Amino acid sequence: MGRHSVFKKQCTADSLSLDLKRWNQEGLTKSGTLRSGVWQSEFGNRERVYTVRYVLDLQDETASFLRLQYASGKESFDYRVPMVTTLPHFGGVRWWFCCPLRLNGRMCNRRIRVLYLSGRYFGCRHCHNLTYQSTQDWDPRVSRIMKNPEAMRGLLSENAKIGDVLLAMKVLKKVRKLTERRKS
Ligand SMILES: [Zn+2]
Repeated sequence: MGRHSVFKKQCTADSLSLDLKRWNQEGLTKSGTLRSGVWQSEFGNRERVYTVRYVLDLQDETASFLRLQYASGKESFDYRVPMVTTLPHFGGVRWWFCCPLRLNGRMCNRRIRVLYLSGRYFGCRHCHNLTYQSTQDWDPRVSRIMKNPEAMRGLLSENAKIGDVLLAMKVLKKVRKLTERRKS
């Protein structure tokens, strides 16, 4: 029972998250833990029901992990999310996931407390945002112009065509997104 509830409570409308803070509170992450089981989740539209097999192995603090196995569409996944500890001032041990996603061939490895399933993999919010943005509005012209502000002036000249103006708007949108991300 307990196993299922951990997962179900954490579903939101369109994503699924695993929150270590909650696991810590529920005492699921004691060092030395080895547990395995199945989580079942329904979220978003009803077609997306995930059954996730997991192994949580915290026996060796230098080689701990959460292993996740699930299927999405015709693909099946099986990978480990490394886990590490830090020692908070008030004593005890705090566990973290290390984001297992790769962007441009490099493992993210960011230390995070919440893993999100978005698309096909669990990972940190940062990686998912980047992936989302790059598939949603990736336009090679935008990054070219951002590297060369003079080109922007050309887009907004007196005899600019409508396509140029639209492109300039895309660039501005991108700039705004980047500034917002820096602030948050
Ligand atoms: Zn990441």
